[in-house]
Amino acid sequence: MSNPLLQSNTLPPFSQIKAEHAQPMIEQFLSNNRKKIEELLQQDSFNWDNLIAPIEAIDDQLSQAWSPVSHLNSVMNSDELRDAYNACLPLLSEYGTEIGQNQSLQQAYQQIKDSDQFAQLNQAQQTTIEHALRDFRLAGVALTDDKKQRYGEIKKRLSELTSKFGENVMDATQAWTKQVKDEKALSGLPESALGLLKQQAEAKELDGYLITLEFPSFFPILTYCDNRKLREEVYKANVSKASEIGTYDEKEANAFDNSDIMNEILQLRHELAQLLDFKNYAELSVATKMAESPEQVIDFLNDLAAKSVSQAKAEFAELKEFAIKEFHVNELQPWDVSYYAEKFRQQRYAISQEEIRPYLPIDKTLAGMFEVVERLYGIEIKEETEFDSYHDDLRFFSIYKNGSKIAQFYLDLYARAKKRGGAWMDECRVRRTTEQGIQLPVAYLVCNFTPAVGDNPALLTHDELTTLFHEFGHGLHHMLTQIDASAVSGINGVAWDAVELPSQFMENWCYEPEALDFISGHHETSEPLPKELLDKLLAAKNFQSAMMMVRQLEFALFDFLMHYNYDPAADHGSYIQDTLNRVREKVAVVPLIAENRFQHSFSHIFAGGYAAGYYSYKWAEVLSADAFSKFEEDGIFNQSTGQKFLTEILEKGGSDEAGVLFKNFRGRDPEVDALLRHSGIKA
Ligand code: ZN
Repeated sequence: MSNPLLQSNTLPPFSQIKAEHAQPMIEQFLSNNRKKIEELLQQDSFNWDNLIAPIEAIDDQLSQAWSPVSHLNSVMNSDELRDAYNACLPLLSEYGTEIGQNQSLQQAYQQIKDSDQFAQLNQAQQTTIEHALRDFRLAGVALTDDKKQRYGEIKKRLSELTSKFGENVMDATQAWTKQVKDEKALSGLPESALGLLKQQAEAKELDGYLITLEFPSFFPILTYCDNRKLREEVYKANVSKASEIGTYDEKEANAFDNSDIMNEILQLRHELAQLLDFKNYAELSVATKMAESPEQVIDFLNDLAAKSVSQAKAEFAELKEFAIKEFHVNELQPWDVSYYAEKFRQQRYAISQEEIRPYLPIDKTLAGMFEVVERLYGIEIKEETEFDSYHDDLRFFSIYKNGSKIAQFYLDLYARAKKRGGAWMDECRVRRTTEQGIQLPVAYLVCNFTPAVGDNPALLTHDELTTLFHEFGHGLHHMLTQIDASAVSGINGVAWDAVELPSQFMENWCYEPEALDFISGHHETSEPLPKELLDKLLAAKNFQSAMMMVRQLEFALFDFLMHYNYDPAADHGSYIQDTLNRVREKVAVVPLIAENRFQHSFSHIFAGGYAAGYYSYKWAEVLSADAFSKFEEDGIFNQSTGQKFLTEILEKGGSDEAGVLFKNFRGRDPEVDALLRHSGIKA
């Protein structure tokens, strides 16, 4: 049988892909690529067309074949696929290191950079070469042979460790469930949550209701369930998962413990940074970002903290007072915070996420979201019915501009077993020039929304709506790019701390009456969100927003300082917890329990790309709020402002520095005021 991953496909052949195809595919591509690079380097002189274009082509082939494997591993996980995926990781990591450390290749790039032709290349091509030279340095091309070897070992080990971290989080999440037979024990839960828990029990042929640690399941318990003991149990299971004190149905407490993995990851990152002559991993992280130094990042976060902590404390004091006065609770435990916050929100604004849900049926919100971007950017989006799929929930869309197709995307919306939690956008194909013409970009958009329950269509909460807009914003950045060099096309080559600009920017439309008017429509009556609910929603928008701000700052400071201050000689195993405790003393305002092991499932920094980079969310939020303030000035559907955002930011991808692109759009450097104003923080 031929390997479907080796055929040149226009789109991934999902239905034919089997776990056993992955490794042979990777081996074949890597061997071809090595040969090809060797051949290219035999040439006497180098230019874009005879070196970089062919390298972009072989890199692209490899990522096109790998993308469905990596995607399926996230959304249709199985033991076989996970093993196959993990078997490929070290091969890819080894190859990446080898290319990054290939001195002849680096010299060939340098030759192009130093030649007269460099000035003739376009901006995207010049940035591609500059980034490549920077990345050669970061890959240790200038190191001695034994240091190069150590670099490779560290990279490979880090790739295994971060993957294992993510697996432990997923396994720990799945290994805990709680069956509740008596509906009375679940009083307070909205219908939609009860329906989901019932559905989860039925899926396992159990009576009653089944609670899991997946978000759509545990979140309603903590927010709505009157049963305090149950909230406590679910809270504790969730915050201790993947740690030495995790609790699971049948496994040992420490079955999925990430403690040692985290310590080793931190130690290796530090060693890696020092190999490359950086003082610490935070400095290495910032080397590719919009921020200019680690100190600038720390100052930025501390400044936001200084502006938010007292308001956050006041918000929490107010919540406590409410709980004491209205419910005679003498002490707020961590598992009480969301619950009373929801009660407080309902009393003050008389609104709950559940009331909004019937007005946000999935198809209406999708159509509304598409209309927003059609108005802003003059594009058109149509759903495709014929495509190769891996699950009935998967949908597929094409984007048109002036009648021609410019991009496509997959949409995988609902939470299910064996699917990684959270929401994200990933690349399937990148826009670039090929010998056959322009290759169109294709994206994967993944969410974990509450699926349809009973006869109703899937109904979103307003939070879910914002998530949908957020991921679509990433998708547009990837799909609307006009850059044809793949290394800086779409989100490629965009500094991590600016990459959340287009996504967070999109969220703003979820709060605009003019947009909500057509984004919403009751699933039975088609009536848009009534003015009364809308007013309440807007009034409630900044409810406890300083508390939310300090929580994000806690994560960001913890991540950054942990990497910045790391000293292997001073680490006696409790460094991570100590760092977190110190940050919490400074910025946390909600109660904590000793069993809180949040860091053990902090996948962003231990399994994803946000190490010493979680601050990027806040950094980019400054950019997105400030960019949106231009629309507030000009009108939220102002076409020329939309057009400018499209041409200066979305289309440009990573072809120029994020700070330059922002300034081209906004006419000045970013300012923090809009973010504080949007968040209702009176600094
Ligand atoms: Zn994002």
